[in-house]
Amino acid sequence: MRPPREFENPLCAQVDGEVWFPEKGDNSTVAKTICGNCIHITECAEWGIKHEAFGIWGATTARMRQRIRKEKNILLEQPRVEDWLGNAKA
Ligand code: SF4
Repeated sequence: MRPPREFENPLCAQVDGEVWFPEKGDNSTVAKTICGNCIHITECAEWGIKHEAFGIWGATTARMRQRIRKEKNILLEQPRVEDWLGNAKA
């Protein structure tokens, strides 16, 4: 599984960073709509479910991913060093 920073031309790279980390009560529709048009949505959501406690990843909110982790008994894991060094294995 590769980290989203390795995705080719992700749509989020074209949009202000604050959109991706909404505060409680903020509307996340813009970010989720952008994700809905991104070719990496599935891979990104899988990464987010496994590794991200905050922000919008693959059109999922932090709360959505928390619920998915609970339902599927998935533990949130810190990314491995290899993931961030760019030589992650799928
Ligand atoms: S799915 Fe969304 S957060 Fe993930 S790479 Fe695409 S635009 Fe960025």
